Amino acid sequence: MRFAIKRRILNIIAIIFILAILIFNKFFTGTAIGITLLILFLLSYFILTLILWRCPHCNSYLWKLAPFATHCPYCGNELE
Ligand SMILES: [Zn+2]
Repeated sequence: MRFAIKRRILNIIAIIFILAILIFNKFFTGTAIGITLLILFLLSYFILTLILWRCPHCNSYLWKLAPFATHCPYCGNELE
């Protein structure tokens, strides 16, 4: 999968995640369901970034990279 597609997928998931938090916050504030869903979303997003958010050249995990950066901070190669 191309890096640009992975980046788009992660950005879309992040937007859905933020919307979901806003909706859940309205309906499930302080309930066990709300907290469980929040933890599940956070965990699944974290696992997804661990798998997808990697440099296509050196395969480093880009944890400190800004969402719209153009070059890898580790090998300096351009991210497609
Ligand atoms: Zn790299």
